[in-house]
Amino acid sequence: MKDDSIAQIDAAIRDVHDFPKPGIVFKDITPVLGDGKLFRLTTDAFAHTLQGEQPDKVIGIDARGFIFGAALADRIGSGFVPVRKKGKLPWETTGVAYSLEYGEAHVEIHKDAILPGEKVILVDDLLATGGTAGAAIQLVKELGGEILCVSFLIELAFLEGRKNLDSDVRIESLLTY
Ligand code: AMP
Repeated sequence: MKDDSIAQIDAAIRDVHDFPKPGIVFKDITPVLGDGKLFRLTTDAFAHTLQGEQPDKVIGIDARGFIFGAALADRIGSGFVPVRKKGKLPWETTGVAYSLEYGEAHVEIHKDAILPGEKVILVDDLLATGGTAGAAIQLVKELGGEILCVSFLIELAFLEGRKNLDSDVRIESLLTY
């Protein structure tokens, strides 16, 4: 990807202080989505992280991963699979609980969403502590999916979330803070 495309995306991301609670600087990606050119550049950049490989499925992580993941799936002609928060998926699911800074969270996937041996890419907007992505990776592995890479728009490197993700998985971030 061209550096100036990434710089344009970077410039559009808005820092919202003390959201959703005091002390958090929330990376608001809605200005990127609201600009047709930037949204397309972001989808291009996600596609680039595949390094020419063709996945069977794009796995989008609840909720902003759905937006980027679905756009990517449409772009490259792959299926799309949502990893959702507990209780949202209607069919048979498998789930995993993981720790957040305060308390616990739980994500689920449909049991038949990935066939053993299918190649997948996981997509989310942001890597913070890695808890969410780590749980999604665990679900994909449980179903027998082969992970080509896990791609984020933003990585908050100071939280060292990468260290909490499986070392055999390729992690890509378009922007690192
Ligand atoms: P984590 O499980 O700690 O890696 O958190 C990642 C998830 O929480 C992602 O799905 C993000 O959308 C969201 N998230 C965490 N921190 C932020 C932040 N500072 N700005 C925006 N989203 C965040």
